[in-house]
Amino acid sequence: MARPGMRIGKILGIPIYLHSTWVIVFAGLTYLLFSQFEQQKPGWTSTQLWSVGLSTSVLFFASLLFHELAHSVVAQHYKIRVLSITLFIFGGVASIERDPSKAIQEFNIAVAGPFASGILAALFWALIKVFPGNESVVSVCTWLSATNLWLAVFNLLPGFPLDGGRIFRAIIWGATKNFSRATRVAGTSGRLIAYAMILLGGFAVFKGSVGFGLWTVIIGFFLLNAAQESVAQLAIRETLTGLRAADVMSQEVPTVGRAISLEEYGAEVLRTGRRCHLVITEDRLVGMMNVHKLNSVPRDEWDLTSVQAVMIPRERILWATPDEPLLGLLERLLTADINQMPIVSGSDDGAAHIIGMVTRDSILRVMQTRSELGPLSFGTASK
Ligand SMILES: [Zn+2]
Repeated sequence: MARPGMRIGKILGIPIYLHSTWVIVFAGLTYLLFSQFEQQKPGWTSTQLWSVGLSTSVLFFASLLFHELAHSVVAQHYKIRVLSITLFIFGGVASIERDPSKAIQEFNIAVAGPFASGILAALFWALIKVFPGNESVVSVCTWLSATNLWLAVFNLLPGFPLDGGRIFRAIIWGATKNFSRATRVAGTSGRLIAYAMILLGGFAVFKGSVGFGLWTVIIGFFLLNAAQESVAQLAIRETLTGLRAADVMSQEVPTVGRAISLEEYGAEVLRTGRRCHLVITEDRLVGMMNVHKLNSVPRDEWDLTSVQAVMIPRERILWATPDEPLLGLLERLLTADINQMPIVSGSDDGAAHIIGMVTRDSILRVMQTRSELGPLSFGTASK
């Protein structure tokens, strides 16, 4: 998800986002809870029904957030940066900067989520025992206790991308020392679980539980897609293993002067087909310019605006060194949502020289060629 949604705050240094699909499920869940309590509690006023429905919904999403924060705290403990937590239609997702480097780390990060949900289930259950006379509290806490318990158990199913799939992968990874094989096994079992959910959901619809059945089918498809994606990511990882920035960079580094207008820059892009240029003045690098920046200015202002006014200034350009592993570089490109990065090599006199450019396209081309050559090319990667 490139655009995670609306930012609602920051906890432990991690930005928290609400995805647009979250609104649908929040409204739907609140309404569902309202109707459920309406049937169970005929004596309640509609104000009471709405307020209980609404607070249950809010606490449910707070529970999801707590679950993701638990994963995040353990990841941060292993010095893995947590980029964001996003709540969306199927729950929450914490995106971390990189995969854990050891099986035990992956195990602990994965297990923290279901553990946190289990703790919440126990906590809400305890509240029922503390306030047995308060009907609203009992209703809210009963639902939340059961739901958090269900979240803990469901997420422990041993298939990717569920937490249980990561735990499963960590165990195989630890036992076989083979990350790729562990990922494939967890991916396959994730697909089996997804197919089982789709079948079960279909069966439930057939039996008359239309809402529950359809929802199960939808989650099944979502999991199926995610399981396939995680195996595809593994393929990318394997293809790029052993390659470094210098292997794919283009040695041509197109440049432009800072004083030219955007109109002139546009003409240069059209003439050469190059989408990114370093901005140079008197042989010194001052910034980077690209088509994306060009398009951020309205067309009728192009002849009055200089490249210098809209370029990415030198200090904000992201760099790579020639021997940076390509996989990490690709991740940095994707995280920063940019298309290219200059490759800089330090020389003996301490001055940095730009020796080339790596673009997303050039990485994709290498991946395609390598996958066409087949698995024979693995292990023969230049070091
Ligand atoms: Zn989780």
